[in-house]
Amino acid sequence: MHSADCLFCRIIKREIPAKVAAENELVFAFHDVNPQAPVHILIVPKTHFESVNDLNNDLSSYLAPMTIMAKELASQNGIANSGYRIVLNTGKDAGQSVFHLHMHLLGGRHMAWPPG
Ligand code: 5GP
Ligand code: ZN
Repeated sequence: MHSADCLFCRIIKREIPAKVAAENELVFAFHDVNPQAPVHILIVPKTHFESVNDLNNDLSSYLAPMTIMAKELASQNGIANSGYRIVLNTGKDAGQSVFHLHMHLLGGRHMAWPPG
């Protein structure tokens, strides 16, 4: 998919409004519009990748900064000690619905395991 047609690319370009949580040169973070926990933030690369499957040589260049941002946001949002979940839904069976790679940061309530 071309980035002009991609929802998260448009959010990154500020063409579609979102509640921004953090930003640096590589990574953008914003609050999920339909939160599934008291803290639910999406962390995305500023470059368009469809999913983890689309990350090859770039994997460590993006997943490490995304994870660092998730960890910092967990701390800033008061869930570092109570606990949180980092989720990368990939493909149909995982329920991926937006095909721009995104990391979910979820916390602020107890979460069951295994997931549904
Ligand atoms: P997925 O199901 O692909 O893992 O996650 C996509 C997430 O994007 C969902 O949690 C959904 O609520 C969120 N989302 C979809 N459209 C928008 C939007 O326009 N703005 C924001 N902030 N989040 C969105
Ligand atoms: Zn995109």
